[in-house]
Amino acid sequence: MVKLIIGSHVSYTQNMGLLGCVKEALNYGANTFMFYTGAPQNTIRGKIDEELTKKAHELMKTNGIDIKNVVIHAPYIINLANNKDEDKMNFSINFLKQELKRAETLGINKVILHPGSHVGLGVNQGITNIINGLNQVLDVPNGPIICLETMAGKGTEIGQTFKQLKAIIDGVKNNHRLLVCLDTCHLNDAGYDLTDFDKLLSEFDHIIGLDKIGCIHINDSKNPVSSHKDRHENIGFGTLGFENIIKIIYQDKLKEVPKILETPYVSINGGKDRTYAPYKHEITMIKQKKFNPNLLNDIRDDYNKL
Ligand code: FE
Ligand code: FE
Ligand code: ZN
Repeated sequence: MVKLIIGSHVSYTQNMGLLGCVKEALNYGANTFMFYTGAPQNTIRGKIDEELTKKAHELMKTNGIDIKNVVIHAPYIINLANNKDEDKMNFSINFLKQELKRAETLGINKVILHPGSHVGLGVNQGITNIINGLNQVLDVPNGPIICLETMAGKGTEIGQTFKQLKAIIDGVKNNHRLLVCLDTCHLNDAGYDLTDFDKLLSEFDHIIGLDKIGCIHINDSKNPVSSHKDRHENIGFGTLGFENIIKIIYQDKLKEVPKILETPYVSINGGKDRTYAPYKHEITMIKQKKFNPNLLNDIRDDYNKL
């Protein structure tokens, strides 16, 4: 029997490297995690410390974290769909190549990527650009995998339908190095009905194939289906609801796929102070399959005790 593979976004700092990520994940009771190799909104990246990486691998081993379930998220300013500015496009391609190298150095096999926004060029041109970009990034048959994320369809985002993702996959030569990352908030906001997840999965299977699901982002949504907003909500507090999310997490066909929470941090004092990670409490709810309506208060109480 495969154990539930659950984790969350954690932070990677230059000081603590991968070791900091593992420690944070263990604090949450997680057995996997996702991180950006620097700030998500920029592309400044430091050197990778070998010693910290080695220690991180040891800590994972002793705590039953299988590194094949750990994922990196590429920064979201990378946009392979927009070829208006050749320099920017080349920068995105080179950055992604470097990101795959960083993943390899850290021993991680999956990098999540937002396919891109066409910024007015149109969906077809956007898809063509993404294919061209990915063919340059994945120019050799071996190396880490890129997981294309399903998007909410905010602005001119590409990847809000399975068909768009399929078109990208079909256009890429080394597409054995491409998988898909489902994001439950994005699927809802894009117009997929998650109250009938079996139907959604069979549609995905028909168009792309279930074996192409490499990761699942587990988020509730602040908005109704088809809203194209992309605003994540804490588990059980949004429009998807706890029961629907639990059904997705425990879906037997996806038991070997890592599930990653990207739910919002909780604020104390109405956000004037700082915000706190909800992941430990959300993972507890998920493991117990029992909704905690006092989740936000419990998180605040927990941190106030510190
Ligand atoms: Fe994402
Ligand atoms: Fe996501
Ligand atoms: Zn999102």
